[in-house]
Amino acid sequence: MANFNTFKSKLDFEEFFTKNKSESFIAIIGSGFASLSLVKNLNTKKIIVFEKGERFNDQSLRGLKIENLGNYQLKENSIEESIGGSSNTWSGRLSEMNKGEFCSTNNICINIFNELIKTFYKKSWRFFGFKNFKQIERGKNGYTERILPKQYSPMRIIESLKRLNIKLIYKANVINVGEDYYGTFMNVVFNDLFEKKIYFKKVVLANGGINSSLLLKKSYQDGCLKPNKSELISSHYMNHPKIIFERFFSNLPKESPFFLKKKYDLNFYGYSLSKSIKEESFLKNTYFTFHPIAIGQNTIEYECADEIIRNKKKCFKIILDYIKENNFNFFSILKIFYFLGCKLRIFNIRIKNYDLEYFCEMLPNKRNKIYAHQNSIKSEINLSEDDFITLEILHQKLVSEFPLNVRSKYKDINFRDKKFIDSSHHLGGIPLRDEQKKTVINADLKIVDSKNIYVCSSSVFQSSGSSNPTLTIVALGIRLAEHLNNLKK
Ligand SMILES: Cc1cc2nc3c(=O)[nH]c(=O)nc-3n(C[C@H](O)[C@H](O)[C@H](O)COP(=O)(O)OP(=O)(O)OC[C@H]3O[C@@H](n4cnc5c(N)ncnc54)[C@H](O)[C@@H]3O)c2cc1C
Repeated sequence: MANFNTFKSKLDFEEFFTKNKSESFIAIIGSGFASLSLVKNLNTKKIIVFEKGERFNDQSLRGLKIENLGNYQLKENSIEESIGGSSNTWSGRLSEMNKGEFCSTNNICINIFNELIKTFYKKSWRFFGFKNFKQIERGKNGYTERILPKQYSPMRIIESLKRLNIKLIYKANVINVGEDYYGTFMNVVFNDLFEKKIYFKKVVLANGGINSSLLLKKSYQDGCLKPNKSELISSHYMNHPKIIFERFFSNLPKESPFFLKKKYDLNFYGYSLSKSIKEESFLKNTYFTFHPIAIGQNTIEYECADEIIRNKKKCFKIILDYIKENNFNFFSILKIFYFLGCKLRIFNIRIKNYDLEYFCEMLPNKRNKIYAHQNSIKSEINLSEDDFITLEILHQKLVSEFPLNVRSKYKDINFRDKKFIDSSHHLGGIPLRDEQKKTVINADLKIVDSKNIYVCSSSVFQSSGSSNPTLTIVALGIRLAEHLNNLKK
């Protein structure tokens, strides 16, 4: 069983580290998916996880405090700083990045990608409970259709961590990492009370797509890592900007190439431009999906059915609570059972209309950055002209599939005036290049200016793709764990 601790005094700290000689431990910073994939796959139990947050509380999300300076706004709840990280709030949709998405024009990424495809994506699907799952991507009438599944009940990491034989210290904020004459160290502030420098065998930054690059940048700035490469870090930030058109259509032409959900189905069916169009015109993988809105979807009865599906064992309690709050009404209870029947795929859902959602691939762009400034985090992110061009071409192609009324309503959309929503996927910021001077990590995800410091987060992605990143983060975590296991032999 895991051992969760927090140090309220220096004495607590001394007691813990007298029993556990830190120099023989691997320190993992962060307790999210990246961390869990490492902990589960490292073949040592001498691991200490450091987490700056505490137990998750859905009434007071810790989130991201951010000042947005660009035209693309990041949301506060796009990360969560508690034990389990963003797994506490994530939606559980999974997808592999394809070769173009993962490598783009970066040749070093090709070897990593080949390993992901050969071994680590399979392991990563299993990590999420999908046995023998295969990512489906196929050409369909001038589009590429990709099927993205969703976990029935999105994984919450704290439950998995509790079952593992590791030590986790919460309210432990790592403020920098580095190496000196005595070894590999971290400076950590415990409970906002006192700071300690601790030496470890190895340190892995698994503290999320934004915080890992900020922590690394600070470590260079503080002189803990040399030569100072702080300027190279935190530019080229990427995300998957999302834009939604509500009630896009209620009827699609019969000969349409798109798959539309009629039954309750957790899969996403995403459509990007065909491979040949993308290659011919250097366009990206931006995709759209049609999101069905059922009749009665926003009612309490629909939500109640949803809650029952998520907590089947509490079925009676949920219905009793519903009756207590809303009084007994036979037809309302019937409605709950009808929605349950839809969710269990016994009945077809009655669809009111479909929303259109675009998930955009964002090209790496030097000017897009996230950085710490006077105790706050600032973002300067704008969609580039190339990002808009892919979206516009895809949109025109999509609209041309529709009857005149839909076509004329949507064909002249000016995306430059529109508000894009953050899809909570923070990517990029730590360069991986051939040249020692221009790179921060190598293909093993080791900081090139260190002997024993590694990074495992989406900040090491060199291009964004358009698909959800967590499967790839976990695949990289399993790969890194196996690499560290092999080093010891
Ligand atoms: C609402 C929402 C929905 C999402 N839906 C999906 C989805 O459907 N599919 C998908 O693929 N992705 C989704 N994501 C993104 C997904 O949650 C992240 O990709 C994933 O959680 C990243 O895991 P991680 O371990 O790298 O980082 P995180 O989950 O961010 O964990 C990092 C941890 O490190 C801690 N930490 C940070 N800095 C320090 C420090 N200095 N010292 C100590 N600890 C530190 C943080 O407190 C945090 O607990 C969603 C995210 C959100 C917010």
